[in-house]
Amino acid sequence: MTAVWTEAWGRADGTRRVRDLFAATYGSAPQVVRSAPGRVNLIGEHTDYNGGLALPIALPHRTYAALARRDDDVVRLVSAQERSEVREVRLADVAPGTVGGWAAYVAGVAWALRAAGHDVGGFDVAIDSCVPSGAGLSSSAALEASVAVALDALHGLELAGDVDPAGAPTHDASRAVLADVCVRAENEIAGAPTGGMDQAASLRARAGHALLLDCRDGSARHVPFDLATHGLALLVVDTRAAHSHVDGEYAQRRAACEGAARRLGVASLRDVADDPHGDGPALASLAGEPDGDVLVRRVRHVTSEIARVQAFVDVLATGDVAAVGPLMDASHTSLRDDYEVSCAELDLAVEAARAAGALGARMTGGGFGGSAIALVEAHTVQHVATAVTGAFAARGLAAPAFAVAVAGPPAG
Ligand code: ADP
Ligand code: MG
Repeated sequence: MTAVWTEAWGRADGTRRVRDLFAATYGSAPQVVRSAPGRVNLIGEHTDYNGGLALPIALPHRTYAALARRDDDVVRLVSAQERSEVREVRLADVAPGTVGGWAAYVAGVAWALRAAGHDVGGFDVAIDSCVPSGAGLSSSAALEASVAVALDALHGLELAGDVDPAGAPTHDASRAVLADVCVRAENEIAGAPTGGMDQAASLRARAGHALLLDCRDGSARHVPFDLATHGLALLVVDTRAAHSHVDGEYAQRRAACEGAARRLGVASLRDVADDPHGDGPALASLAGEPDGDVLVRRVRHVTSEIARVQAFVDVLATGDVAAVGPLMDASHTSLRDDYEVSCAELDLAVEAARAAGALGARMTGGGFGGSAIALVEAHTVQHVATAVTGAFAARGLAAPAFAVAVAGPPAG
Protein backbone atom coordinates (compact mmCIF):
# COMPACT_ATOMS: atom_id res chain seq x y z
CA MET A 1 0.00 0.00 0.00
CA THR A 2 1.68 3.23 -1.10
CA ALA A 3 1.68 6.25 1.18
CA VAL A 4 0.24 9.61 0.04
CA TRP A 5 2.55 12.63 0.42
CA THR A 6 1.69 16.32 0.82
CA GLU A 7 4.58 18.07 -0.94
CA ALA A 8 5.63 21.60 -0.08
CA TRP A 9 5.72 23.97 -3.07
CA GLY A 10 8.92 25.77 -3.98
CA ARG A 11 8.79 29.50 -3.17
CA ALA A 12 8.87 30.53 -6.84
CA ASP A 13 6.03 28.13 -7.63
CA GLY A 14 3.82 29.37 -4.77
CA THR A 15 4.50 32.99 -5.74
CA ARG A 16 3.62 32.33 -9.37
CA ARG A 17 0.39 30.53 -8.45
CA VAL A 18 -0.88 33.32 -6.22
CA ARG A 19 0.12 36.05 -8.71
CA ASP A 20 -1.80 34.18 -11.40
CA LEU A 21 -4.89 33.84 -9.18
CA PHE A 22 -4.73 37.55 -8.33
CA ALA A 23 -4.42 38.57 -11.99
CA ALA A 24 -7.17 36.19 -13.14
CA THR A 25 -9.51 37.46 -10.42
CA TYR A 26 -8.90 41.21 -10.40
CA GLY A 27 -7.44 41.83 -13.87
CA SER A 28 -4.21 43.47 -12.68
CA ALA A 29 -0.93 42.56 -10.99
CA PRO A 30 -0.58 42.51 -7.16
CA GLN A 31 1.65 45.09 -5.45
CA VAL A 32 3.10 42.69 -2.88
CA VAL A 33 3.37 38.92 -2.48
CA ARG A 34 4.33 37.40 0.88
CA SER A 35 4.12 33.93 2.40
CA ALA A 36 4.00 32.35 5.83
CA PRO A 37 4.52 28.78 7.05
CA GLY A 38 2.35 26.29 8.86
CA ARG A 39 3.98 24.59 11.85
CA VAL A 40 4.34 21.43 13.83
CA ASN A 41 4.81 21.61 17.55
CA LEU A 42 7.57 19.26 18.71
CA ILE A 43 6.30 19.28 22.30
CA GLY A 44 4.39 21.58 24.68
CA GLU A 45 0.74 21.08 23.73
CA HIS A 46 -2.11 23.07 25.31
CA THR A 47 0.50 24.98 27.29
CA ASP A 48 0.39 28.31 25.45
CA TYR A 49 -2.82 29.59 27.05
CA ASN A 50 -1.43 28.50 30.43
CA GLY A 51 1.62 30.77 30.24
CA GLY A 52 3.72 27.68 29.56
CA LEU A 53 6.48 26.58 27.18
CA ALA A 54 6.06 25.28 23.62
CA LEU A 55 8.58 24.18 21.00
CA PRO A 56 7.24 24.50 17.43
CA ILE A 57 9.10 24.50 14.12
CA ALA A 58 7.95 26.26 10.94
CA LEU A 59 7.06 23.86 8.11
CA PRO A 60 8.29 24.16 4.52
CA HIS A 61 4.57 24.23 3.63
CA ARG A 62 3.45 27.85 3.23
CA THR A 63 0.42 30.04 2.50
CA TYR A 64 0.92 32.73 -0.17
CA ALA A 65 -0.88 36.08 -0.15
CA ALA A 66 -0.91 38.57 -3.05
CA LEU A 67 -2.26 42.04 -2.26
CA ALA A 68 -2.92 45.43 -3.83
CA ARG A 69 -4.24 48.61 -2.20
CA ARG A 70 -7.71 50.02 -2.82
CA ASP A 71 -8.83 53.62 -2.35
CA ASP A 72 -11.90 52.67 -0.29
CA ASP A 73 -12.30 50.52 2.83
CA VAL A 74 -13.45 47.40 0.96
CA VAL A 75 -11.55 44.12 1.18
CA ARG A 76 -12.09 41.73 -1.72
CA LEU A 77 -10.84 38.20 -1.08
CA VAL A 78 -10.29 35.09 -3.13
CA SER A 79 -8.69 31.78 -2.17
CA ALA A 80 -7.80 28.86 -4.40
CA GLN A 81 -8.78 26.63 -1.46
CA GLU A 82 -12.28 28.16 -1.26
CA ARG A 83 -13.57 27.47 -4.80
CA SER A 84 -12.08 30.79 -5.92
CA GLU A 85 -15.32 32.66 -5.13
CA VAL A 86 -14.70 36.35 -4.51
CA ARG A 87 -15.92 37.66 -1.16
CA GLU A 88 -16.26 41.27 -0.16
CA VAL A 89 -16.09 42.83 3.31
CA ARG A 90 -16.16 46.50 4.37
CA LEU A 91 -13.50 47.12 7.03
CA ALA A 92 -15.84 49.50 8.89
CA ASP A 93 -18.26 46.58 9.36
CA VAL A 94 -15.70 44.15 10.79
CA ALA A 95 -16.37 43.36 14.46
CA PRO A 96 -16.68 40.18 16.54
CA GLY A 97 -19.40 38.01 15.01
CA THR A 98 -19.87 39.95 11.77
CA VAL A 99 -17.65 38.04 9.31
CA GLY A 100 -18.27 34.35 8.66
CA GLY A 101 -15.98 31.65 7.25
CA TRP A 102 -12.43 32.01 6.07
CA ALA A 103 -12.72 35.76 5.33
CA ALA A 104 -12.74 36.35 9.10
CA TYR A 105 -9.05 35.38 9.37
CA VAL A 106 -8.05 37.91 6.71
CA ALA A 107 -10.40 40.76 7.61
CA GLY A 108 -9.55 40.08 11.27
CA VAL A 109 -5.87 40.86 10.68
CA ALA A 110 -6.72 44.22 9.06
CA TRP A 111 -9.19 44.93 11.87
CA ALA A 112 -6.63 44.11 14.59
CA LEU A 113 -3.94 46.24 12.88
CA ARG A 114 -6.39 49.16 12.82
CA ALA A 115 -7.31 48.51 16.48
CA ALA A 116 -3.56 48.75 17.27
CA GLY A 117 -3.50 52.20 15.65
CA HIS A 118 -2.12 51.35 12.20
CA ASP A 119 -3.50 53.09 9.13
CA VAL A 120 -4.73 50.13 7.06
CA GLY A 121 -7.25 50.71 4.27
CA GLY A 122 -9.07 48.48 1.80
CA PHE A 123 -7.24 45.95 -0.37
CA ASP A 124 -7.71 43.14 -2.86
CA VAL A 125 -6.17 39.85 -1.81
CA ALA A 126 -5.63 36.42 -3.38
CA ILE A 127 -4.59 33.38 -1.34
CA ASP A 128 -3.11 30.04 -2.35
CA SER A 129 -1.60 27.46 -0.03
CA CYS A 130 0.00 24.04 0.29
CA VAL A 131 -0.63 23.93 4.05
CA PRO A 132 -3.41 21.37 4.48
CA SER A 133 -6.40 23.07 6.11
CA GLY A 134 -7.84 21.73 9.36
CA ALA A 135 -4.98 19.22 9.67
CA GLY A 136 -3.57 20.61 12.90
CA LEU A 137 -0.65 22.15 10.96
CA SER A 138 -1.94 25.66 11.54
CA SER A 139 -3.18 26.77 8.16
CA SER A 140 -5.15 29.42 10.06
CA ALA A 141 -2.02 31.06 11.49
CA ALA A 142 -0.24 30.70 8.12
CA LEU A 143 -3.13 32.58 6.51
CA GLU A 144 -3.13 35.31 9.17
CA ALA A 145 0.65 35.72 9.14
CA SER A 146 0.88 35.84 5.32
CA VAL A 147 -1.70 38.63 5.29
CA ALA A 148 -0.06 40.41 8.24
CA VAL A 149 3.39 40.59 6.62
CA ALA A 150 1.82 41.53 3.26
CA LEU A 151 -0.16 44.39 4.86
CA ASP A 152 3.01 45.42 6.70
CA ALA A 153 4.78 45.74 3.32
CA LEU A 154 1.82 47.36 1.57
CA HIS A 155 1.48 50.09 4.21
CA GLY A 156 5.12 50.46 5.26
CA LEU A 157 4.35 49.54 8.88
CA GLU A 158 7.93 48.32 9.46
CA LEU A 159 6.92 45.64 11.95
CA ALA A 160 7.91 42.54 9.94
CA GLY A 161 11.50 43.48 9.08
CA ASP A 162 13.36 40.98 6.91
CA VAL A 163 14.39 37.36 7.00
CA ASP A 164 18.18 37.14 6.80
CA PRO A 165 20.03 34.67 4.51
CA ALA A 166 20.25 32.19 7.41
CA GLY A 167 16.44 32.15 7.62
CA ALA A 168 16.19 34.19 10.84
CA PRO A 169 13.82 37.13 11.32
CA THR A 170 15.66 40.43 11.81
CA HIS A 171 12.99 42.11 14.01
CA ASP A 172 11.77 39.70 16.66
CA ALA A 173 10.20 42.24 19.02
CA SER A 174 7.99 43.83 16.38
CA ARG A 175 7.17 40.41 14.91
CA ALA A 176 5.84 39.53 18.37
CA VAL A 177 3.52 42.53 17.98
CA LEU A 178 2.35 41.17 14.60
CA ALA A 179 1.79 37.77 16.21
CA ASP A 180 -0.46 39.41 18.82
CA VAL A 181 -2.40 41.08 16.00
CA CYS A 182 -2.94 37.65 14.39
CA VAL A 183 -4.04 36.14 17.72
CA ARG A 184 -6.65 38.89 18.13
CA ALA A 185 -7.90 38.22 14.60
CA GLU A 186 -8.28 34.50 15.34
CA ASN A 187 -9.76 34.90 18.84
CA GLU A 188 -12.06 37.88 18.33
CA ILE A 189 -13.06 37.87 14.65
CA ALA A 190 -12.73 34.19 13.66
CA GLY A 191 -13.97 33.16 17.12
CA ALA A 192 -11.36 30.45 17.82
CA PRO A 193 -10.00 30.72 21.40
CA THR A 194 -6.50 29.46 20.57
CA GLY A 195 -3.35 30.49 22.46
CA GLY A 196 -0.44 32.22 20.72
CA MET A 197 1.84 29.36 19.75
CA ASP A 198 0.75 29.00 16.12
CA GLN A 199 1.15 32.67 15.23
CA ALA A 200 4.53 32.91 17.01
CA ALA A 201 5.78 29.85 15.11
CA SER A 202 4.76 31.30 11.75
CA LEU A 203 6.21 34.76 12.37
CA ARG A 204 9.14 34.24 14.76
CA ALA A 205 10.65 30.84 13.85
CA ARG A 206 14.11 30.43 12.33
CA ALA A 207 15.18 27.93 9.65
CA GLY A 208 17.06 24.95 11.08
CA HIS A 209 15.82 25.76 14.59
CA ALA A 210 12.92 25.08 16.88
CA LEU A 211 11.32 28.06 18.63
CA LEU A 212 11.38 27.75 22.42
CA LEU A 213 8.47 29.96 23.26
CA ASP A 214 7.76 31.18 26.77
CA CYS A 215 4.09 32.12 26.68
CA ARG A 216 4.19 33.86 30.06
CA ASP A 217 6.42 36.74 29.00
CA GLY A 218 6.29 36.20 25.22
CA SER A 219 10.04 35.66 24.96
CA ALA A 220 11.46 33.22 22.45
CA ARG A 221 14.78 31.45 21.89
CA HIS A 222 15.98 29.65 18.75
CA VAL A 223 17.16 26.12 19.54
CA PRO A 224 19.21 24.33 16.84
CA PHE A 225 17.10 21.52 15.38
CA ASP A 226 18.66 19.66 12.50
CA LEU A 227 17.65 16.01 12.51
CA ALA A 228 19.33 15.13 9.20
CA THR A 229 22.84 15.43 10.65
CA HIS A 230 21.81 12.78 13.20
CA GLY A 231 20.38 10.44 10.54
CA LEU A 232 16.86 11.17 11.80
CA ALA A 233 13.68 12.63 10.32
CA LEU A 234 10.37 13.95 11.60
CA LEU A 235 7.44 12.30 9.87
CA VAL A 236 4.11 14.15 9.95
CA VAL A 237 0.98 12.01 9.71
CA ASP A 238 -2.11 13.99 8.74
CA THR A 239 -4.86 11.61 9.85
CA ARG A 240 -7.43 13.53 7.78
CA ALA A 241 -9.80 13.20 10.72
CA ALA A 242 -11.65 16.52 10.85
CA HIS A 243 -10.88 18.76 13.81
CA SER A 244 -12.24 22.11 14.86
CA HIS A 245 -10.92 24.50 17.47
CA VAL A 246 -13.99 26.64 17.14
CA ASP A 247 -16.07 23.90 18.71
CA GLY A 248 -16.58 23.61 22.43
CA GLU A 249 -13.88 21.16 23.49
CA TYR A 250 -10.91 23.48 23.09
CA ALA A 251 -12.73 26.28 24.89
CA GLN A 252 -13.72 23.86 27.67
CA ARG A 253 -10.12 22.78 28.26
CA ARG A 254 -9.00 26.38 28.36
CA ALA A 255 -11.80 27.31 30.80
CA ALA A 256 -10.94 24.34 33.04
CA CYS A 257 -7.30 25.46 33.26
CA GLU A 258 -8.23 29.07 33.96
CA GLY A 259 -10.73 27.93 36.60
CA ALA A 260 -8.11 25.70 38.25
CA ALA A 261 -5.61 28.58 38.32
CA ARG A 262 -8.21 30.82 39.99
CA ARG A 263 -8.97 28.21 42.64
CA LEU A 264 -5.27 27.78 43.31
CA GLY A 265 -4.79 31.54 43.55
CA VAL A 266 -2.16 31.71 40.79
CA ALA A 267 -2.04 33.84 37.63
CA SER A 268 -1.67 30.78 35.38
CA LEU A 269 -0.83 27.08 35.67
CA ARG A 270 2.74 27.99 34.75
CA ASP A 271 3.14 29.13 38.34
CA VAL A 272 2.20 25.64 39.52
CA ALA A 273 4.64 24.09 37.03
CA ASP A 274 7.40 26.37 38.32
CA ASP A 275 6.76 25.64 42.01
CA PRO A 276 10.06 24.27 43.36
CA HIS A 277 8.10 21.96 45.68
CA GLY A 278 6.32 20.33 42.72
CA ASP A 279 2.66 20.21 41.80
CA GLY A 280 1.69 17.75 44.58
CA PRO A 281 0.10 20.30 46.96
CA ALA A 282 -1.87 21.94 44.12
CA LEU A 283 -3.16 18.61 42.83
CA ALA A 284 -4.10 17.53 46.37
CA SER A 285 -6.10 20.69 47.00
CA LEU A 286 -7.96 20.37 43.69
CA ALA A 287 -8.73 16.69 44.35
CA GLY A 288 -11.21 17.75 47.04
CA GLU A 289 -13.31 19.85 44.61
CA PRO A 290 -16.58 18.42 43.22
CA ASP A 291 -15.05 17.94 39.73
CA GLY A 292 -11.66 17.20 41.32
CA ASP A 293 -10.74 14.07 39.40
CA VAL A 294 -11.01 15.79 36.03
CA LEU A 295 -9.30 18.99 37.22
CA VAL A 296 -6.36 17.08 38.68
CA ARG A 297 -5.79 15.33 35.36
CA ARG A 298 -6.07 18.55 33.34
CA VAL A 299 -3.59 20.37 35.59
CA ARG A 300 -1.25 17.39 35.70
CA HIS A 301 -1.07 17.38 31.91
CA VAL A 302 -0.18 21.06 31.78
CA THR A 303 2.47 20.97 34.50
CA SER A 304 4.07 17.73 33.27
CA GLU A 305 4.00 18.95 29.66
CA ILE A 306 5.78 22.18 30.55
CA ALA A 307 8.46 20.10 32.29
CA ARG A 308 8.75 17.89 29.19
CA VAL A 309 9.45 20.91 26.98
CA GLN A 310 12.36 21.89 29.19
CA ALA A 311 13.59 18.28 29.26
CA PHE A 312 13.33 18.09 25.44
CA VAL A 313 15.48 21.20 25.03
CA ASP A 314 17.99 19.85 27.57
CA VAL A 315 18.23 16.55 25.67
CA LEU A 316 18.74 18.36 22.35
CA ALA A 317 21.64 20.25 23.93
CA THR A 318 23.38 16.96 24.78
CA GLY A 319 23.43 16.00 21.09
CA ASP A 320 21.73 12.65 21.80
CA VAL A 321 18.70 13.69 19.76
CA ALA A 322 17.10 10.23 19.60
CA ALA A 323 16.64 10.46 23.38
CA VAL A 324 13.73 12.89 22.92
CA GLY A 325 11.61 9.93 21.72
CA PRO A 326 10.38 8.85 25.18
CA LEU A 327 9.40 12.47 25.95
CA MET A 328 7.22 12.49 22.82
CA ASP A 329 5.63 9.22 23.89
CA ALA A 330 4.95 10.56 27.39
CA SER A 331 3.43 13.72 25.92
CA HIS A 332 1.00 11.66 23.85
CA THR A 333 -0.04 9.53 26.82
CA SER A 334 -0.68 12.66 28.87
CA LEU A 335 -2.73 14.29 26.10
CA ARG A 336 -4.72 11.08 25.58
CA ASP A 337 -5.40 10.09 29.19
CA ASP A 338 -5.11 13.24 31.31
CA TYR A 339 -6.13 15.99 28.88
CA GLU A 340 -8.42 13.80 26.73
CA VAL A 341 -7.84 15.61 23.44
CA SER A 342 -6.67 12.68 21.31
CA CYS A 343 -8.92 10.52 19.12
CA ALA A 344 -8.89 7.01 17.64
CA GLU A 345 -7.10 8.09 14.44
CA LEU A 346 -4.33 9.95 16.30
CA ASP A 347 -3.80 7.03 18.71
CA LEU A 348 -3.64 4.65 15.76
CA ALA A 349 -1.12 6.83 13.89
CA VAL A 350 1.09 7.00 16.97
CA GLU A 351 0.86 3.28 17.75
CA ALA A 352 1.40 2.17 14.16
CA ALA A 353 4.42 4.48 13.77
CA ARG A 354 5.99 3.13 16.96
CA ALA A 355 5.30 -0.46 15.91
CA ALA A 356 7.12 0.30 12.63
CA GLY A 357 10.19 1.50 14.52
CA ALA A 358 9.58 5.18 15.35
CA LEU A 359 11.73 6.35 18.27
CA GLY A 360 8.82 8.40 19.65
CA ALA A 361 5.47 9.69 18.43
CA ARG A 362 2.73 12.02 19.58
CA MET A 363 -0.27 13.96 18.42
CA THR A 364 0.58 17.57 17.56
CA GLY A 365 -1.64 20.65 17.60
CA GLY A 366 -4.93 21.03 19.43
CA GLY A 367 -6.12 17.45 18.91
CA PHE A 368 -9.56 15.90 18.28
CA GLY A 369 -8.20 14.95 14.83
CA GLY A 370 -5.46 16.58 12.79
CA SER A 371 -1.86 15.36 12.74
CA ALA A 372 0.64 13.27 14.63
CA ILE A 373 4.45 13.42 14.42
CA ALA A 374 6.91 10.55 14.63
CA LEU A 375 10.67 10.71 15.13
CA VAL A 376 12.16 8.09 12.83
CA GLU A 377 15.53 7.03 11.47
CA ALA A 378 15.81 8.82 8.14
CA HIS A 379 16.19 5.64 6.10
CA THR A 380 12.89 4.29 7.53
CA VAL A 381 10.64 7.21 6.50
CA GLN A 382 9.01 5.31 3.63
CA HIS A 383 8.72 2.13 5.65
CA VAL A 384 6.96 3.85 8.57
CA ALA A 385 4.62 5.79 6.25
CA THR A 386 3.69 2.59 4.43
CA ALA A 387 3.07 0.77 7.71
CA VAL A 388 0.83 3.57 9.06
CA THR A 389 -1.07 3.65 5.76
CA GLY A 390 -1.62 -0.10 6.05
CA ALA A 391 -2.85 0.20 9.64
CA PHE A 392 -5.42 2.82 8.59
CA ALA A 393 -6.61 0.67 5.69
CA ALA A 394 -6.93 -2.36 7.98
CA ARG A 395 -9.32 -0.33 10.17
CA GLY A 396 -11.30 0.87 7.17
CA LEU A 397 -10.11 4.47 7.65
CA ALA A 398 -9.35 6.95 4.86
CA ALA A 399 -5.66 7.02 3.89
CA PRO A 400 -3.58 9.50 5.91
CA ALA A 401 -1.25 11.99 4.18
CA PHE A 402 2.43 12.33 5.07
CA ALA A 403 5.09 15.00 5.04
CA VAL A 404 8.68 15.19 6.27
CA ALA A 405 9.03 18.23 8.50
CA VAL A 406 12.25 20.24 8.18
CA ALA A 407 12.46 23.48 10.18
CA GLY A 408 11.86 26.22 7.62
CA PRO A 409 12.08 30.03 7.65
CA PRO A 410 9.33 32.29 9.06
CA ALA A 411 6.85 34.55 7.28
CA GLY A 412 8.37 36.96 4.79
P1 ADP B 1 -5.61 24.47 11.11
O1 ADP B 1 -5.11 25.81 11.52
O2 ADP B 1 -5.09 23.38 11.99
O3 ADP B 1 -5.36 24.16 9.68
P2 ADP B 1 -8.12 25.69 11.72
O4 ADP B 1 -9.50 25.15 11.90
O5 ADP B 1 -7.54 26.46 12.83
O6 ADP B 1 -7.19 24.46 11.31
O7 ADP B 1 -8.07 26.63 10.45
C1 ADP B 1 -8.61 26.18 9.21
C2 ADP B 1 -9.46 27.29 8.64
O8 ADP B 1 -8.61 28.39 8.25
C3 ADP B 1 -10.19 26.89 7.37
O9 ADP B 1 -11.44 26.31 7.67
C4 ADP B 1 -10.35 28.24 6.67
O10 ADP B 1 -11.43 28.96 7.23
C5 ADP B 1 -9.07 28.97 7.05
N1 ADP B 1 -8.03 28.77 6.03
C6 ADP B 1 -6.83 28.19 6.20
N2 ADP B 1 -6.11 28.19 5.05
C7 ADP B 1 -6.88 28.79 4.12
C8 ADP B 1 -6.73 29.09 2.71
N3 ADP B 1 -5.62 28.76 2.05
N4 ADP B 1 -7.75 29.71 2.10
C9 ADP B 1 -8.87 30.03 2.76
N5 ADP B 1 -9.07 29.78 4.06
C10 ADP B 1 -8.11 29.16 4.74
MG1 MG C 1 -5.57 26.78 13.35
